Amino acid sequence: MTGSDIAVDQPVLLEIFPTGAIVGATRRYEKHLGDMQDVYADNESWVAQVDALGADLLVYSVDEHKYQDGPGALIVGTSKLLPGRYGDEFSITRGHLHAKANRAELYYCLSGRGVMLLDTLDGQSKAIELTPGQAVNVPGGWLHRSVNVGDEPFITLFSYAADAGQNYAVISRAGGMKQLIVADESEQGWRAVENPKHTGYDETDLRS
Ligand code: MN
Repeated sequence: MTGSDIAVDQPVLLEIFPTGAIVGATRRYEKHLGDMQDVYADNESWVAQVDALGADLLVYSVDEHKYQDGPGALIVGTSKLLPGRYGDEFSITRGHLHAKANRAELYYCLSGRGVMLLDTLDGQSKAIELTPGQAVNVPGGWLHRSVNVGDEPFITLFSYAADAGQNYAVISRAGGMKQLIVADESEQGWRAVENPKHTGYDETDLRS
């Protein structure tokens, strides 16, 4: 193959700030409190907060850069998860498995204090705390969700394959992830507990 047969993208300079702002981003999306129905184990606490704070309250945002969708390209972005509590449970993102389940992802903490909550469909579960300068290299096959266990925004830099996609239904079908991250009195301030509503995953979600 000669060079003229291959569409070569141009390198792009991005400026990425500890606030999560990206100069050069191609897309931003936001999640609001009203988007988080059936995400928290304590539904009554979520309903009470919607009543008190409004469904339009911003709870997290993502800024990202993508130059193409094809295999081999990377998406680079930041996630900013605001602090909060729903009963004992800390503020979380919806979480997902990649639609192409074998696609990996890097999460690097820029600011704040959080936990990456990670499950496999066959029942493994991990909770890894992240403070600025720490990163998790998430292999393919792991469902992942961010949790803010601090008082400030939890901001991460992420990068993953542009063709990965997101499967959110795998978590809702299972009654949530296997563990919840809840407040406790330890110095760490949080612990992982079994989610009583979790019913197990459907391993056929791994087929891609
Ligand atoms: Mn992901």
